[in-house]
Amino acid sequence: MSQKLVTEAYVGGVWRGGRGGTFAVYDPATGAEIAQVADCSSQDVEEAIEAASEAYLIWRHTSVKERAALLYKIRDSLLANKDNLATTITRESGKPLGQSAGEVGFSASFFEWFAEEARRQYGETIPSSVASKRMVTIRQPVGVAALITPWNFPIAMMARKLAAALAAGCTCVIKPAEDTPLIALAFTKLCEDVGVPAGVINVVPCSRERVLEVGAALCDSPQVQVLSFTGSTAVGQWLYSRCGLTVKKLSLELGGDAPFIVFPTANLDLAIPGAMASKFRNTGQTCVSANRFFVHESLHDEFVSRLAAAMDTELKVGRGLDTGVNQGPLINQRQHDRLVKMVKETVAEGAQVVRGGTSMSGLYYPPTLLTGVTPAMTLAKNEIFGPVAIIMKFKTEEEVVKLSNHTRRGLAGYFYSNDVSQVWRVAEAMEVGMVGVNETLMSTCEAPFGGVKYSGIGKEGSKYGLDEYSSLKYICFGV
Ligand code: ADP
Repeated sequence: MSQKLVTEAYVGGVWRGGRGGTFAVYDPATGAEIAQVADCSSQDVEEAIEAASEAYLIWRHTSVKERAALLYKIRDSLLANKDNLATTITRESGKPLGQSAGEVGFSASFFEWFAEEARRQYGETIPSSVASKRMVTIRQPVGVAALITPWNFPIAMMARKLAAALAAGCTCVIKPAEDTPLIALAFTKLCEDVGVPAGVINVVPCSRERVLEVGAALCDSPQVQVLSFTGSTAVGQWLYSRCGLTVKKLSLELGGDAPFIVFPTANLDLAIPGAMASKFRNTGQTCVSANRFFVHESLHDEFVSRLAAAMDTELKVGRGLDTGVNQGPLINQRQHDRLVKMVKETVAEGAQVVRGGTSMSGLYYPPTLLTGVTPAMTLAKNEIFGPVAIIMKFKTEEEVVKLSNHTRRGLAGYFYSNDVSQVWRVAEAMEVGMVGVNETLMSTCEAPFGGVKYSGIGKEGSKYGLDEYSSLKYICFGV
């Protein structure tokens, strides 16, 4: 692999080392070290915040047209460099190459979308109840944004946040996930190359050992006005409480627990591909993955046998760089061991193994299908984050709606039904931020992405995505 990797931190337009030395990034497919990356300390973060604050004084006054023009350039550059970027994603995350290329295209779509939305940041005039006043609102950027991104969509989550932040007029300090900093740095280099001014984007990678220190520096800085995070609920809760001290605006995209319900009128010709896409995309490591399958007793056996057959014929486990592979390794040992333990416990609790369930070498895990699962079993109570489908049987709509809502998380939910009244009833009753009706691939730049309950606050993408990075100012004129 001859591609040159970017491994340094980027602060105030300068590529440099981190005060913590370096940390290793590994290829999850082979366990081999890919690179040593700058390990930033809290002091590096403070300097990055300083650089972003200084750049903000200029960036906030650029016109929306200028910012939009730069966002279009970033889109074009992402698309022009798709293959190289996809290879970097696959090397450090294990994601199959086709999916990595898809992620780069998805990332570009947010730059196009927010280039367009930047120009529509309207205020309004408000009719006054007294003749001596005139009232208007305007939108302004909030200031420096801290963006903390995960490893499962390492460029798309950065892109979705960054495009909105830049469009609104914010400058950024980005902390990428320790498993996947290389794609964040490669993307940043590309932004530098198309002319993003120094200090507007700063990137401070750090090792897992330094994440608390770096996270605290971002939360505690009064100069950081908004923090946007995608990751686990536990870390989100910590950031939420820590940011209380500086009263930051917060956008949190946290863990999901998506129910996938198959009602008696479901068309299995749609439900089976929907289940396959939702469960096995990115080897099950997405926050909107179907987590709990509830299948009506009348369709249960047919659904299970057809899903098992689709798994046998459509899924190929292996190195993400190899042709035809669509199931890569899990990201790291911690996630792998967690999944192995949860499957073992669920089987010991009485679930039946229809496919998979046994270990493979390295960080690979076989596509697995378990039936006879009950809501009290381990896998039904946790976010699985791996290629394991668990099937529960149900009898009535009332029972299954109650079961699907019986979780603290509420990101996405899916169901298959052709009963129009039921479609409305269930879509409204689901306690989630996003519902897929006879469809599981919902994420797109035009639609609001975000959850309710412990799955987070705020929306990304869509016309609402800019709200996270801008504030509404009311101006009252006496006349
Ligand atoms: P996972 O457990 O799947 O790795 P995390 O929520 O731990 O998910 O990670 C998501 C992102 O949050 C990563 O960039 C990670 O480094 C970061 N992170 C983890 N802990 C903290 C923390 N205390 N402060 C700031 N960022 C953190």
